[in-house]
Amino acid sequence: MSPLSFELTTEQRDLRDWVHGFAADIVRPAAGEWDEREETPWPIIEEAARIGLYSFDFLANGFADATGATLAIVNEELAWGDAGITLAIFGSSLAVAGIVVNGTPEQVGEWVPQCFGTPGDIKLAAFGVSEPDAGSDVSSLRTQARYDAVRDVWTLNGVKTWITNGGIADVHVIVASVEPELGSRGQASFIIPPNTPGLSQGRKFRKLGIRASHTAEVILENVVIPGSCLLGGRERLEERLARAREGVRSSTQAAMATFEATRPIVGAQALGIARAAYEYALEYAKERVQFGRPIIENQSIAFALADMATSIDATRLLVWRAAWMAASGQRFENAEGSMAKLTAGETAVRVTEQALQILGGYGYVREHPVERWYRDAKIYTIFEGTSEIQRLVIARAVSGVHIQ
Ligand SMILES: Cc1cc2nc3c(=O)[nH]c(=O)nc-3n(C[C@H](O)[C@H](O)[C@H](O)COP(=O)(O)OP(=O)(O)OC[C@H]3O[C@@H](n4cnc5c(N)ncnc54)[C@H](O)[C@@H]3O)c2cc1C
Repeated sequence: MSPLSFELTTEQRDLRDWVHGFAADIVRPAAGEWDEREETPWPIIEEAARIGLYSFDFLANGFADATGATLAIVNEELAWGDAGITLAIFGSSLAVAGIVVNGTPEQVGEWVPQCFGTPGDIKLAAFGVSEPDAGSDVSSLRTQARYDAVRDVWTLNGVKTWITNGGIADVHVIVASVEPELGSRGQASFIIPPNTPGLSQGRKFRKLGIRASHTAEVILENVVIPGSCLLGGRERLEERLARAREGVRSSTQAAMATFEATRPIVGAQALGIARAAYEYALEYAKERVQFGRPIIENQSIAFALADMATSIDATRLLVWRAAWMAASGQRFENAEGSMAKLTAGETAVRVTEQALQILGGYGYVREHPVERWYRDAKIYTIFEGTSEIQRLVIARAVSGVHIQ
């Protein structure tokens, strides 16, 4: 058994420095512009594809790291540059995780490369679970998928909302109900191939933060897809439905399985925002002079920075533990993935607020990036499960009681 170590390998250090260079030289300088434009930063995704950061190989190597640290490090560094652009680059990976977690090896081989495309011809992917009346309560999805055994096709109808890359993606992974009476156990994930008739973009949302990331409704009107687009295949679905009808608990609910795999990574992004704000505030506090001395010489400012540094390190330990558990195939018995995501989201909100306070009026205006980080941080207590839902998952896991 290898000894406990928090030391990164040479490859992990090199990777961190490489991604940090991209975040510092390309992402951060562009962040303000894309935040103002509220548009997908295509040239930056293109650049990420050109250097190999936006690619199937890169993500596959990350998933293959048995320590789990690689993707956590990459997401922290990139979000340190800008979270909106990070989501524009890595938004596709939620759909990719949906395919990898729920699909057969053939489906992974066929569809995942199409989620990325190639440099010069990049593609995007989207993962659609949420609906206007089904956010936290994913068991009540109304989008339905009906199977026609004669033609071997599925027909999907419904409306998805808040979908990252929704409508502009080439590949959409959509979670739909195939047997509504079974709640979340009667759901399955489907690939909607590029240019499938009936899928269209609804409203595009204007947001508080992460504005370089596209968020929109996805409308599905008689979307007909081949039987082979059911992730995991028909046999596995029928077995699962049969178990659910008999009341046997299943560990593979389509949406939940995907979120379990991605929570530590989302937590790492929140961590990146928190670190960016902390570092900026630390430097500012050393420079800014009031009452004849740098403001950091006041204990209230220095202690705030001490708290920020401490909670960032504590968050990183939780994120790395969850990433390590996920990568080494251990079950989150005590909802360790949710613990990481909960702590990371709330740390990002608190630390960016503290950083803004340390900058005073300068923190409130757009000449400094802190107000953007403050806006960007908030989404991390909302998407991929709100903080309340993470607490619910943790409370149920540690207590064994079905807390409402
Ligand atoms: C920018 C953005 C990007 C997104 N990207 C995607 C995406 O790519 N794909 C996707 O499928 N979804 C996406 N979402 C949706 C996101 O996951 C949902 O917004 C989130 O799950 C919450 O659902 P809701 O907004 O309907 O809130 P609701 O579920 O209506 O919750 C409202 C409030 O009630 C609380 N609440 C609800 N139930 C309980 C309970 N049982 N106990 C205690 N409190 C409770 C919540 O915590 C929250 O505070 C995105 C959202 C945003 C804003």
